Amino acid sequence: MVCFALAASFVGAYCDTPLRAQETVPAQEKPSAAPQQEKVRAERYEIDVRFEPERGFLHAKARVTLRASQFVEAIEFELNPRLQILEVTDGQGRKLDFTRSGRIGSPKLLVRLVEPCGAEQGTTLTFVYEGTLVPRPMDYITKDGILLRDESRWYPAVDISAFTKNKILISVPSNWGAITSGQMLGSIGYGLGASFTWETARPVSSRSILGVPRITKGFQCSPKPVQEQGFQRIRMGSACAFDLGEESGSKIAAKAQNILEFYGKNIAQYGDSQLRIHQAFPGARGAIGYSAPGFLVVSEDLVKWHNYPGYAPEFLPHEVAHQWFPIEVTIAREEDGWLAESVAEYLAWRYLREKDLAAARTMVARAMRDALAPELLRPLSEGLKLFREGNEVAYPALYQRGMLVWRTLETVIDRERVDAALREYYKRYAGRSASIADFRKICEELSGRDLGWFFDYYINGMQIPEITIRRVAAGAPNEYAGEIVVKNVPADYQVRVEMRIETASGSVSHSVATHGEVTPFTVTVPGPVQRVVVDPDQRILRWTEAARRNRKQRELLAKADMVAYGSTPIQPDRTELVRAIHAYREAITEDPENLAGNNQQIRFVLGQLENRRGRLENASVEFRLAIALASLAPMETDFYRAWAHVYLAKIAQKRGDAAGARREAGAGLTMKSPALETLVAWPGSGGRETTAEQELRRLAR
Ligand SMILES: [Zn+2]
Repeated sequence: MVCFALAASFVGAYCDTPLRAQETVPAQEKPSAAPQQEKVRAERYEIDVRFEPERGFLHAKARVTLRASQFVEAIEFELNPRLQILEVTDGQGRKLDFTRSGRIGSPKLLVRLVEPCGAEQGTTLTFVYEGTLVPRPMDYITKDGILLRDESRWYPAVDISAFTKNKILISVPSNWGAITSGQMLGSIGYGLGASFTWETARPVSSRSILGVPRITKGFQCSPKPVQEQGFQRIRMGSACAFDLGEESGSKIAAKAQNILEFYGKNIAQYGDSQLRIHQAFPGARGAIGYSAPGFLVVSEDLVKWHNYPGYAPEFLPHEVAHQWFPIEVTIAREEDGWLAESVAEYLAWRYLREKDLAAARTMVARAMRDALAPELLRPLSEGLKLFREGNEVAYPALYQRGMLVWRTLETVIDRERVDAALREYYKRYAGRSASIADFRKICEELSGRDLGWFFDYYINGMQIPEITIRRVAAGAPNEYAGEIVVKNVPADYQVRVEMRIETASGSVSHSVATHGEVTPFTVTVPGPVQRVVVDPDQRILRWTEAARRNRKQRELLAKADMVAYGSTPIQPDRTELVRAIHAYREAITEDPENLAGNNQQIRFVLGQLENRRGRLENASVEFRLAIALASLAPMETDFYRAWAHVYLAKIAQKRGDAAGARREAGAGLTMKSPALETLVAWPGSGGRETTAEQELRRLAR
């Protein structure tokens, strides 16, 4: 359980499975042998893979065609160390020597060629291997399903995000289906087994595969397939949902298709004939997804709650954006992760801005607060490496701050040029890898400006600007004169700052392109100025009052959280409880207007602390406030409301008010929110996990 510290770690929908806890994109951890990548590249794979899901076992024969640009005598591959290599042979059928890395857990593997391979020469190696893989959240072979991403290293690779043409034959038990990128050439059933052959028409950046048992629920496409002489022809650019059920499938397919169209208009036509959507991650809770060329897998909760307002609205647009970035334009290095995760998050925001403005605003408000919550901000240039330190580090940096940097770029070169830059980036690099430097070059070409300062400051740097407005004496009575003051920035920092000047006779919008630290401006106003709001749409990544208050509250509560949420089995004593209550009350006074949106959570925790101290009346007051307040995330709001009802029902019970307890529990149950299903182990429960729904049902009886 890591949901306790204020705000930043409570990401999105679930306490126990933060939004996209395990979501990653293909093509990340590339083999470290970068110099070799330039020497040898894979061009084609022909793989026969057979699964025994009950045993977590796979047996494979992989033929990989490679091209060397220089003279090589040995080739370094990566293959999951759990897979035992039975044989490696070359194009002439000669057995080759190979050595696996001596380091435990290392996937590295060196294959020595019989005769050296010269420049621009091709060679074909065939690997026969088998083994049992340990199931992991994102890569698993189990009786309930199979997902092997490129990152699982289930096939020998010199570069797991290489663009290759593939023909993959997947054998699974007879009542299963198997999917990978490309088109299905055919399927055959044989006794207890079935096999599916897939082939790509063009090089793709992934060899991830999916196996699903019990394919019975049919499929739904948007737009609907054309009926042609007794068979259904799926139209180009369709989104099709498989086995998600008639209603969910239709709706999810329609939404995905709408997103495909949106990006098609804004970036480039979708490159695949259709986007297939399947369910995966059996048994996992929360919003989890994974995108591969031409297909997308989502978790059960995403299917179940796809229609619930406020449940992970950015999720599907984020995943679909990956079909362009980084699936079609892969990233050159992990350090270029801003062009994978941050851009997907930015595009998801762009989509929501058109289709669900409230969700788009919430997404930005949360990011403006949480991106600056970590004590130590990490440079975005660390890219996908940030994932190694867990989601608590990667999410606020790469998703939230990264997205805000994209928005800030709009205020530097304008939104139309950001769109044009993304279109050009795709056009220039589709089917290849590219870097942040490549993207910067395009932005500079389009804007005719040197943008070195922007990328240095926002991608490599860790500083955050402070932007304020200082009023100065105006020359005329109908004029407002001021200076925009920008701090913590280099001399060449330039952004367009919007402002809303509120007067007694209406408000005026104005924008100023800043130069350096102080930029004077004057605006004609219709009446006496009452208030000036800087950057009202929060377009610039900068310090805001909400972010500052959030930080202060977190500092204040760092110690008190140990008492409130400490995982130690030892009960805090009275003094400790009282001290924690004081700290929480002080945190409320730090933000009386609830700009940071933390007060609901704080009231809830206060209720818990008072309850533990035996002050039931105080506790009730706090829980009532928690029900009345809202946070910056709809699912978080629901979560605290539901649990406040649980506590209030328990308090009623303690007082012998059975009817009151039932009433309170009933009020909680009417919420019917996904948040009612969030598993949580509260302090003092001895680590027992439960959901608000389970508790409410029990109390309603
Ligand atoms: Zn992603």
